[in-house]
Parts: sequence; C-alpha cells; structure tokens
Amino acid sequence: MATWQNWARTERSNPQRFDTPESTDELAAVVARSAEQGRHVKAVGAGHSFTGAAVTDGTLLSLDRMTGIETVLPTATGALVSVRAGTRLHDLSEQLWALGLALPNLGDVDVQSVAGAISTGTHGTGAGFTGLAAQVRAVTTVLADGSVVECSPAHQPELFEVSRLGIGAVGVLSSVTFDCVAAFRLRAHEAPGSLHETLDSLDDRLRADHFEFYWFPHTDGVLTKSNTRLPGTTPVDPVGRIRGFVDDEVLSNGVFNAFQHLGTRVPTLIPGLNSVSSRALSERTYTDRSHRVFASNRRVRFKEMEYAIPVDALPAVLDEIAAWLRRSALKIGFPVEVRFAAADDVWLSTAHGRDTAYVAVHQFHRGEHREYFSAVEAIARAVGGRPHWGKLHGLTAAELSEAYPRFDDAVAVRDRVDPQRVFDNAYLQRVLGA
Ligand SMILES: Cc1cc2nc3c(=O)[nH]c(=O)nc-3n(C[C@H](O)[C@H](O)[C@H](O)COP(=O)(O)OP(=O)(O)OC[C@H]3O[C@@H](n4cnc5c(N)ncnc54)[C@H](O)[C@@H]3O)c2cc1C
Repeated sequence: MATWQNWARTERSNPQRFDTPESTDELAAVVARSAEQGRHVKAVGAGHSFTGAAVTDGTLLSLDRMTGIETVLPTATGALVSVRAGTRLHDLSEQLWALGLALPNLGDVDVQSVAGAISTGTHGTGAGFTGLAAQVRAVTTVLADGSVVECSPAHQPELFEVSRLGIGAVGVLSSVTFDCVAAFRLRAHEAPGSLHETLDSLDDRLRADHFEFYWFPHTDGVLTKSNTRLPGTTPVDPVGRIRGFVDDEVLSNGVFNAFQHLGTRVPTLIPGLNSVSSRALSERTYTDRSHRVFASNRRVRFKEMEYAIPVDALPAVLDEIAAWLRRSALKIGFPVEVRFAAADDVWLSTAHGRDTAYVAVHQFHRGEHREYFSAVEAIARAVGGRPHWGKLHGLTAAELSEAYPRFDDAVAVRDRVDPQRVFDNAYLQRVLGA
C-alpha cells in the first residue's frame, strides 16, 4: 500500500492493508479477519496527531465512510447525540447547529474525526469547561475479537473509561454519544497585551467563559483571546470580509509563514519578527456561531508539544521557559499557546482530577525542535506536568504511570480486552507498556 503520513510530517508508515468500512458489521469483520491473520490494526482519523498514535504496519482503517448523526435524545439542557465515529468535528458542528445544538467546547481546529479527537484527549480552553472526552456519555466499540460492545458509565464502565480516551488501545470506536448543549454564539475579543500584565490579572481573566493567550518568546508581547457565551439567537457580527482576510489569511497564515521561512534561514531575526507579530494583529471583537469562533484555519505546518500543568504553576513555568531561552542560543519564532480547562474524571485525561493550564510549544515543521521541547518538558515535568497524548513528548509508561492515578486500571483493561495486542504499535508500547 502507499505510504501514509501524518499532517505534521513527523510520522509515516507502510501498512499492509488499508480498509474503509461502511458499517459497524463491516468494521467488526475487518478487525476480526486482521487479528486472525496476525496483523495489527489501527484506525486513523484526520492524521492530526504529532505522535505515532495512529501508525501501523498492519491494517490501517479509515472511518471516513462512517459519518453523520445517528440519534438525538433531548435532555433538559440540550440532547444526547450519537454520531458515527468517522464524522469530522466541523461537519458535526454544522449538523448540530441545524438541530439547535452544539458541543460545549472545542479546540482551535475542527478538522479532526470525532473518534481521533477524543482518543488523545483533545481540548479547547475555558476554566469552567472540560475537554471533549469528558463530554462523552457512551460509545460503541469493536474489540480485538470482532465483538461489538456498547459501553457507558452504567454498562462496562471500566471499558468505557479507556474507550473514550485510550489512544485506540482497546478497540475501534464505531459510534460516540456526546452530551450536547443548546446552540450558542460566542463574542470574541482579541487584543495584544503584555505577558506580565496578563499573568497579574489571570484570576480576573479566567472568569471569562473561554480565555487563552499566545506569548511571543524573546518578547513580553502576548495576544489574548476571550470568548463570551451568548444565546444562539444573538445577532451575528462576524469579522468583515476584508478585515478577516487581512487578519486571518494574510497576517496569521501568509505573513507568519514568510516569517517562519525567514527565521529558519536567519535565526537572529526571530526576536524582532516576534515583536512585530505580537503587535501586528490589532484589537477586534466579533460574534458568530460557537464552532466558527472556537476553530480557525492553520495553514502553517508545525510540530507541537503540549503539557498540562496545575494552574497555580503557570507563572513560574513561563518564567522558567523565558529564563531558559535567555540562556540558550536558540531563537523560537512560534508563539507559546496557553489555555485552561476544568478538572475532569476521565482516567487518562490530562486534566484528570485537577484544574489545568495547558502550555503548548511549537516549532516550524522545518525547524529543529528537540532541544527546545526537551527543555520545556523538563520544566513542565518538575511541576507534575502531563503531556498531550497526540503531541510530541519523550515520556514512557513508567513515568506516565506516576502522573495518572488510574493509569494501572487503564492498563489492566487493555490487558483484559486485548491480550494479543492487536491494537498495538510502537507508540502505545512506549506510553502504555508492552
Ligand atoms: C493543526 C493542529 C491543531 C490542533 N489543535 C488542537 C487543539 O486545539 N486541542 C487539542 O487538544 N489538540 C489539538 N491538536 C491535536 C489533535 O486534536 C489530536 O492529535 C487528535 O487526536 C487528532 O485527531 P485525528 O482525527 O486526526 O486523529 P488521528 O491523529 O488520526 O488519531 C489519533 C488517535 O486516535 C485513534 N483513533 C482514530 N480513530 C479511531 C477510532 N475510530 N477508534 C479508536 N481509535 C481511533 C488513532 O489510532 C490514534 O491513536 C491539533 C493538531 C493539529 C495538527
């Protein structure tokens, strides 16, 4: 089969087979046949993980033909919506909007598949909101022997935990049920600012529904984003077409891409370019459908590592990163993204049991990332940081088991339902153990 590679070009593989089942029965038959024939099985969504989470030399499955909403069960606050696992988040959001519904929170892109997104713990920002896996109320999954199991907190709760966020280690999801809320709009307020002022006023800023900021290394400049939830009937006030084109296409993607190429060739220019970038986007406010505000286009290809840390540790961690950069000869042209999430109870969630700040570092896809990412990893680990399962990091199962109170329980479920390791790959062996 042709070579498969992920979006970031950090992983590639040559699977023996590529299958695109159309139904749960077909999916179950492919899994059972591959297992009988001794082939590993991995499902892939949009290939947007930076790690080798979806890599296989066996059978690669795409659920791109298993898409769309299956059932809608109204609740007091919205509806329980079951969706086929291959559905892309942007398609789901548009379909939900037509039903007067929405996912409560989303990340900053929405091209991922539903199953791929929850499997690595994809999250957005908002101190009072959780990541996507915590919004899941039930799943249907195909186990290694081809059996189809529906699980939820009431039925096979342990399998449910590792299925809703388990890096595809225990089965292939065919359907996911989300707890959706009534459709809402977001009023976005974006503004340049300074890192010190932002950290000094963090408690106030975190009272906003969805707050995040980008810090431009080698400078004190930040770009803050604060989104306020409004009823779905609120009039739309989107960014004007010209302003949107200039800000989002020309400045955020086009000029930024040119800066990355220039900075890669002449790194000493990077501090100055960062200073320009942090001031290039001026203050703006706009209102639109929630998913259109949460997600944006990312056309500049990059590599990323993201650590989840206790919120209280954030100022010290950013200080240490700045101090490390001052000592290092490296120049970093990508902003550091800082987001927030509420504690949840998902066993392998990076926000398990604690209110969380996320610190994400990036490097242009052509740039060398190892020294920078290793330094930030050491700083984040010293405060009990947990790496995003879908983003680059260097931890192994032994280290991760110390970071997650329910890690051993998750591994026990894997041992029980996939003793032959049909769903294994090198990444899972590293992060969950052999
Ligand atoms: C530009 C960009 C922006 C991003 N923004 C964010 C963000 O805002 N927040 C955030 O948290 N993350 C973000 N990420 C990371 C991304 O959300 C995750 O890596 C996510 O897992 C990617 O989804 P995918 O559909 O591409 O899954 P893939 O990368 O294809 O797969 C991820 C994992 O899910 C498994 N999987 C896929 N389908 C199934 C299935 N049907 N059943 C069982 N397992 C399955 C795969 O085997 C693999 O282990 C971003 C990544 C990129 C490249």
